Amino acid sequence: MKYSDPRYIGFGQRWRRLKVDERFSELVSITQDLGLRIHVADLPPGKLGLHCHQTREIWIDVDLSPSEMTSVLAHEVGHAVFGHEDSTPENEVQANEWAAVFLVPDDEWTAYLDAYGGCKTAFFADCFGVMEDVIKTRWDQHKRTMNKAPLCAV
Ligand SMILES: [Zn+2]
Repeated sequence: MKYSDPRYIGFGQRWRRLKVDERFSELVSITQDLGLRIHVADLPPGKLGLHCHQTREIWIDVDLSPSEMTSVLAHEVGHAVFGHEDSTPENEVQANEWAAVFLVPDDEWTAYLDAYGGCKTAFFADCFGVMEDVIKTRWDQHKRTMNKAPLCAV
């Protein structure tokens, strides 16, 4: 079957969807391991999610799309993984970076860059079922890694 065959493309989309669902389930099991409770509720305007270290709770806004919900949950779990007690700029960066690596694992990111490197952030966000901000964080991480790589192997 050729790669341009619609059946192949359809298979790719279903495979990606399965991976996204798998990642969401994994996130939920991490929250259980960490003893966190997740609530889906109507949060104040501008708030997509919240993590409370003291009560071991995560709150996710009810109006989020599936990709937003996965991205926000991963961010809040990132706060819990690091035991953040408040929202500082450093903690936000750390939670974003954890979420980006969790939702867009290294091997899949590298494979997608090889295949679709010239594509836009929105394309990658759609492929991985995440918000564009997650992909932007992944790009930043990628650029930092590339800057550290030697320019020549001599
Ligand atoms: Zn945060």
